[in-house]
Amino acid sequence: MEFQNIKVVKFGGTSLADAKQLLKAKAIIEADPARRYVVPSAPGKRFAGDIKVTDMLYECYRLAAEGEDFSKEFNQIKERYDTIIAELGIDLDLSEDYEKIQGAFKYHAGSDYAASRGEYLNGKIMAKLLGYDFLDAAKVIKFYDNGTFDAEKTNIILSDRLTRHERAVIPGFYGSMPNGTIKTFARGGSDVTGSIVARASSAAIYENWTDVSGFLMADPRLVKDPCAIDTITYQELRELSYMGAGELHEDSIFPVRFAGIPINIRNTNDPEARGTMIVPTTESFDSERVITGVAGKKGFSVLNIEKDKMNAEIGFGRKVLEAIEEEGVTFEHLPSGIDTMSVVISSDLTKKQRKRIINSISAECEPDKICFEDGLALVAVVGRGMVSAKGTAARVFKAIANADINIRMIDQGSSEISIIVGINEKDFEKAINAIYDEFIKR
Ligand code: ASP
Repeated sequence: MEFQNIKVVKFGGTSLADAKQLLKAKAIIEADPARRYVVPSAPGKRFAGDIKVTDMLYECYRLAAEGEDFSKEFNQIKERYDTIIAELGIDLDLSEDYEKIQGAFKYHAGSDYAASRGEYLNGKIMAKLLGYDFLDAAKVIKFYDNGTFDAEKTNIILSDRLTRHERAVIPGFYGSMPNGTIKTFARGGSDVTGSIVARASSAAIYENWTDVSGFLMADPRLVKDPCAIDTITYQELRELSYMGAGELHEDSIFPVRFAGIPINIRNTNDPEARGTMIVPTTESFDSERVITGVAGKKGFSVLNIEKDKMNAEIGFGRKVLEAIEEEGVTFEHLPSGIDTMSVVISSDLTKKQRKRIINSISAECEPDKICFEDGLALVAVVGRGMVSAKGTAARVFKAIANADINIRMIDQGSSEISIIVGINEKDFEKAINAIYDEFIKR
């Protein structure tokens, strides 16, 4: 069988929280015959305050591991699945699976095994509902003995297996180690499975169905009703995610980015919405908006160092960075002037670490002045359009100045797709809104 125009569709927990949601997913899958491989999460929250099945499983297993009675908790999990099955009206009996799982809990099969059953059981339901083959992820998603993901082995096994299944459901979130033990990815890891399946089937697109209509241009907790992003490149997404935006984990981006496959973030509750397209590259951009998004983070400190004729001193920068490296600390930015150098680092440093860094630099570099300043927030304005649209930086700075905010630091990476400004933490929200309003007409 040839892989042609395949769409891999992953559905998140809220998209599969109950029978009604599963039927929405079914309608979406059946609306396009190219949607041949389906990766489900475990049932998520049905309403605010509800508990995700994965969390129920972790709790249930915790009791089992402590040798306590877990039958009440286990029955609640069974109940969730049995209600879904009954409401869907499908002919499926999971009692053998329940028994096996309960037995494995008693024999302490591990919390990864426990958590993975959420996706496993939901996968069986999805497969039955759709009439697709069920492909247990333990057979095709492989981890090394040390628990890290074995990308190449998985790709070989999985792409071979998929050629034998015209249509299949592959549960998300888990795989197995060489000795057969079940291993999960980090929380939210069904996204990773979807991406791996997309790579293995050389999919034309990886559709990630969730409960939002794509990524937003700014954090809705900071900006009122921000617009959705239509198209974003992997590189732009990386810049925005680094600043805390975006909902996809790095690991879930890697397999598809590596294979040049676009991701489409879609909304199960609004299937008509285009959502956000994440693409390897594109030259085009919205010339009205220029920027793709704005994001930021608080909690940074700056180590300011001044020394007359610093620019002529060979090895100065290296010695400064070595002092920071010795503390096992990474630096975020390194804006520098002729006689000044600033190192932006996270504020989590202990007092002792700060003291050791200052002592080491003082001894090695003999600066005229050296001090830490706290309370810095970083704001990143990201947009591939900035490379060609002149005056973007001027607009960013003008917007910040008009909002009466002092800029403490400016940094533009060599890729020219982002401008990063450092401001006082108290001005954070105001700055994000000022920049958003400058570029997006409300
Ligand atoms: N069910 C798992 C979790 O809650 C994985 C996922 O939903 O992606 O983290």
